[in-house]
Amino acid sequence: MTKTVVISGANRGIGFEMVKCYVAADDWHIIAACRTPQSADELNALAKANSNIEIVQLDVADAKSVADFANTVGDRTVDLLINNAGVIGGDHQSLGDIDYDEWMQTLAINTLGPIRVTEALIDNVRQSENGKIVAISSQLGAMQYQTQGRFAYNSSKAGLNRNMTLLASQLRADKIAIAMYHPGWVQTDMGGQEADITPSESAKALVKCFDELTLAGSGKFFKWNGEPHVW
Ligand code: NDP
Repeated sequence: MTKTVVISGANRGIGFEMVKCYVAADDWHIIAACRTPQSADELNALAKANSNIEIVQLDVADAKSVADFANTVGDRTVDLLINNAGVIGGDHQSLGDIDYDEWMQTLAINTLGPIRVTEALIDNVRQSENGKIVAISSQLGAMQYQTQGRFAYNSSKAGLNRNMTLLASQLRADKIAIAMYHPGWVQTDMGGQEADITPSESAKALVKCFDELTLAGSGKFFKWNGEPHVW
């Protein structure tokens, strides 16, 4: 039976590579959510060649966009929700040079966005026999990861992790598995070309992890290769 996956930030980077993985897997209907579908050239080209990709507008920080997105999904079952969309949060994140408006926007996208989208689609995921909700987090959100700077980004991912653990406990009774993943240091617009792994390597490994996720792993933080991540 065909399953449905929703991927936010599906037009480029890791999100776009995940779309490609689900197209190749064949038994998925892919709801590829992106902020500006009209300029998502590569995604539009892929969708033209593959009828199982449905492109839908979604800005995860915009309440109306999220509501319109949920209306488009309607009462369809969502088997897997991938909260991937994220921003690094701008150039003013160091002590003495903090842009607080930018920080708020980073939190709106990285921390509140996944919860906003999850809340809008929760009944769709509840309908699945094996519903899963995952978030692409970051090692920079881990307290035990030694790093300097980037107040906005790091705190946004730390907050995301906490919120996902709350979701895991609240949705355990519904048998929905929730998990967070550090995708590796990935060669995307965000990660830069010096990063360790390609978007394709990251996406393939993540998709395997999502496939293997069960309720036993719910509430946990993993690396892209399936190993546990420190908090
Ligand atoms: P990119 O910068 O390549 O892509 C980010 C994606 O998020 C784009 O599709 C972008 O859309 C989308 N996005 C940003 N803001 C919003 C919004 N408000 N609503 C909807 N979509 C939005 O980044 P990556 O692919 O590298 O990152 C994907 C995820 O992985 C992020 O959550 C990131 O924090 C995380 N991550 C990445 C790492 C790396 O090394 N690359 C390391 C650790 C974590 P648009 O084109 O419209 O801007």
